[in-house]
Amino acid sequence: MILETFPVGPLQCNCTILGDEVSGEAIVVDPGDEVARIARRLTELSLKLKQIIVTHAHIDHVGGALRLKQLTGAPILLNENDLPLLQMMDDQAGWIGIPTPETALPDAGLADGQLVGLERYPAEVLHTPGHTQGSVCLHFAPLKLLIAGDTLFAGSIGRTDLPGGHSGQIIESIESRLLVLPDETKVLTGHGPATTIGAERKSNPFLR
Ligand SMILES: [Zn+2]
Repeated sequence: MILETFPVGPLQCNCTILGDEVSGEAIVVDPGDEVARIARRLTELSLKLKQIIVTHAHIDHVGGALRLKQLTGAPILLNENDLPLLQMMDDQAGWIGIPTPETALPDAGLADGQLVGLERYPAEVLHTPGHTQGSVCLHFAPLKLLIAGDTLFAGSIGRTDLPGGHSGQIIESIESRLLVLPDETKVLTGHGPATTIGAERKSNPFLR
């Protein structure tokens, strides 16, 4: 298995490449920016991109998705509840003062319970609204791995003051969908360091 996470763009969104060296296939999660670098890495690893998965439609997570699709032909997957945010890309670019990236409607949704990812490394989609209405986490149960987008951070949780955010809902999502996962589950967060479900259950000050 190939698993690489690296921050991209001015807001340092964690982008993840998960690849299977046997099948030669990969997925990319949250290609927010620096698409040339992501594409170059896929080429270096001899991986063919199968899916572009976007945890939510904030500009720093979705901004490079269309460009990556144009370079690789891979479909973009995004939960339909974030389509209103996708259509606010001009506003989002204005919030952080960067040019508006070109975006397009996703090729497929990311519904709760849906299986995505690679044949050997499938993930279940967990719909975890609160940071945005279409926020999802990806649970790779056999790998004991969660990609959490901006829902859960090491020692923190996603902000809920932007359009579509809801503070009670994000706590409910985290408690009912994420804290029920095994303690040893590694969590790749949308920004900053990785953590584990056990560490967050024990010490995250937003979850007590
Ligand atoms: Zn976000």
